[in-house]
Amino acid sequence: MSRYWSDIVSKLQPYVAGEQPRIPGLVKLNTNENPYGPSPRALEAIGQATDDRLRLYPDPSATELRETIAARHALTADEVFVGNGSDEVLAHVFQALLKHDLPLLYPDVTYSFYPTYSLLYGIEAIEIPVDDRFQIRLADYDRPCGAIIIPNPNAPTGIGLPLADIEALVATHPDAVVVIDEAYVDFGGESAIPLISRYPNLLVIQTLSKSRSFAGLRVGFALGQRELIEALVRVKDSFNSYPLDRLAQVAATAAIQDEAWFETCRKKLIASRDHLVTELEALDFEVLPSQANFIFARHESRSGAALLAALRERDILVRLFAKPRIADFLRISIGTDEECAGLVAALKAILAA
Ligand code: PMP
Repeated sequence: MSRYWSDIVSKLQPYVAGEQPRIPGLVKLNTNENPYGPSPRALEAIGQATDDRLRLYPDPSATELRETIAARHALTADEVFVGNGSDEVLAHVFQALLKHDLPLLYPDVTYSFYPTYSLLYGIEAIEIPVDDRFQIRLADYDRPCGAIIIPNPNAPTGIGLPLADIEALVATHPDAVVVIDEAYVDFGGESAIPLISRYPNLLVIQTLSKSRSFAGLRVGFALGQRELIEALVRVKDSFNSYPLDRLAQVAATAAIQDEAWFETCRKKLIASRDHLVTELEALDFEVLPSQANFIFARHESRSGAALLAALRERDILVRLFAKPRIADFLRISIGTDEECAGLVAALKAILAA
């Protein structure tokens, strides 16, 4: 007997999330979390909402949160879609917007959830090679396609594209949905949000997980013209009409309003990143130019696997990816200055041994 679930088990290659060990004292530089924690105003909002009202379902439309996000970006609430982390937003995007008779294009070195979603939703995908410096060459996307998805900055390289290039891509593909995944844009990238009013085929996705330190609360959002957003809402309402719980909604609203905390934390992380790059280059690492809250670096003589294992022995976690072309690169999330200094000291000791 053929069982359809056997097919899923044999064919679906799920995304493998970064390690989340429950061992105290580890320095976690492996999953791009923000070391500074959410805005104190967000924590206060959670405290104030933690009472008997939790027996009630949350607002299924997350109206206040959507209005707050819209106001920050000079959009209207019906141009904002929210979900449980940008992973869930992306899942809805794949289901609602990307089923075409033409293929989906994305870079071959990129966020590894895209191939997973393509497989899950039966979407033909073509991986467009990045060049020998890991740069996305937009001319290579000049081919028939139903949709394009580009992270800006890209992950796990951290390399950003200028806004003018994104605009050229959106303008030259008027019949394709162009999704720009801006999970890391707040660390020095250029957002495509100002283009939304002019391009009905553009969808921008952001997350609160990184620059707002909300990974544990799971809040992401998509911005685009009304019709694209309405398609996402239809899919959401056919799947789980309450995607964000009450606490996530009030906390995210407060976090978006706390511009001062956001600015302080992201500036600290940018400064720490730039300092870490200098330190690693002095230790003979090749570090790709990063506009994210992580760096992607390989050593001129040591393998990625050896360095990862040696760091792990010193209670420091970083991340490696299986793809052969990038197998020697360590992806290192930017921690506090103390954590970064600990990493550099550990690498010095490892390289001297
Ligand atoms: N997009 C990219 C490029 C990412 O690296 C991540 C984080 N793993 C996400 C989206 C998803 O982030 P979240 O679901 O936490 O919002």
